[in-house]
Amino acid sequence: MEHPKYEQTLVIVKPDGVQRSLIGEVISRYERVGLKLVAIKMVIPTEAHVEAHYTLDPNWMRITGEKTIKGYKDKGLLPPSEDPLEITRVVLASLKKYLTAGPVVAMIWEGAHAVKIVRKLTGGTEPLTSDVGTIRGDYVLDSYSMSDLDVRSVRNIVHASGSVEEAEMEIKHWFTETEIQKYRLIQEQIIYDVNLDGIKE
Ligand code: ADP
Repeated sequence: MEHPKYEQTLVIVKPDGVQRSLIGEVISRYERVGLKLVAIKMVIPTEAHVEAHYTLDPNWMRITGEKTIKGYKDKGLLPPSEDPLEITRVVLASLKKYLTAGPVVAMIWEGAHAVKIVRKLTGGTEPLTSDVGTIRGDYVLDSYSMSDLDVRSVRNIVHASGSVEEAEMEIKHWFTETEIQKYRLIQEQIIYDVNLDGIKE
């Protein structure tokens, strides 16, 4: 088995994150936990690229629809539809507008449990219920009911891969091999070294 410290995940600072000058804040959250940045670039994605990104996982449409329905019902509200696929078709159309509205910053973060750690620091999809202390909980006040009313995507600053399998597909979708750096950070010796050798003089 490959050592867990080599796990990678994809993060995208979405156009609202860039416009709100939060690129540095987002980077610092992942940096300070001990993850390593191994690739970064700014691009304005095309609608085709965004659609391909969200449909890499054949289950994404169903899961996202179900999550939205649950989000409504948990608050005692009526969802716009009981059909998860119908909901996600609308979400996807809005997402294409949202993510092509301006430059985004795509990054690959590497380290132990990178996917889960990044999701934890990022917070839940809907900022109204994202935990305090997470990026989405601390910097956005959006909700499904408001975004649906205005027929747009929920704005939540960042995208982060949902699983190791998704991360592998998404990384290939956004980066070529040559754009990904292989290097050692000095702090890895403290984070991963078994014996913490070489500190005492
Ligand atoms: P996450 O980004 O947390 O993995 P999803 O993959 O379920 O969440 O959804 C992708 C993105 O689509 C979300 O980050 C959000 O911007 C948008 N979105 C999801 N569900 C809705 C919804 N019901 N209404 C508006 N936008 C949504």
